[in-house]
Amino acid sequence: MATNRPQKPSQGVDERDLRIIEEQLGRRPRGVVAVERRCPAGHPQVIKVYPLLGKEPFPTLFWLTCPEIVRQISRLEHEGWIERLEELIKGDPELRRRYHESHRTYIRERWQTLREEDKRWLEAHGLLEVFQRRGIGGLRDWDAVKCLHMHYAHYKARGENPIGEWIAERFAIRECS
Ligand SMILES: [Zn+2]
Repeated sequence: MATNRPQKPSQGVDERDLRIIEEQLGRRPRGVVAVERRCPAGHPQVIKVYPLLGKEPFPTLFWLTCPEIVRQISRLEHEGWIERLEELIKGDPELRRRYHESHRTYIRERWQTLREEDKRWLEAHGLLEVFQRRGIGGLRDWDAVKCLHMHYAHYKARGENPIGEWIAERFAIRECS
């Protein structure tokens, strides 16, 4: 097995976007596959990241990069909305069903994003479980919420995440203009 597997290059993302993302995140982003959504001000808001960086599985596909939105979502986390949403999921079979379906579509897209050679490499290294079983953001427990940022990013990119949708419907999350 090759030890120097090439890093998935950033596609459809120009140097200018990468520099802005670096400023937003405070580090050079690796494996950026696409800018999925932009703020009205034009800068990247949600990016898609390749699910395997070097030899490290990276099960979170979508990342919020806009600091303004990250800050607003962090505030909701500090107010206890992760735990409250987990309680809601427990008590609402329809929300739970939709949430699980969202894990499934995420898993499908994550797998389809991988190159064939990387799928074979993962299989050869016993890492398929990470990609076939773990849900949004690598969650082992499909009823857990863990982080609101990854759900909101998924919702903004694909519109099929009931946690992100729930946040969007109840809180006025502002985009930069
Ligand atoms: Zn923004």
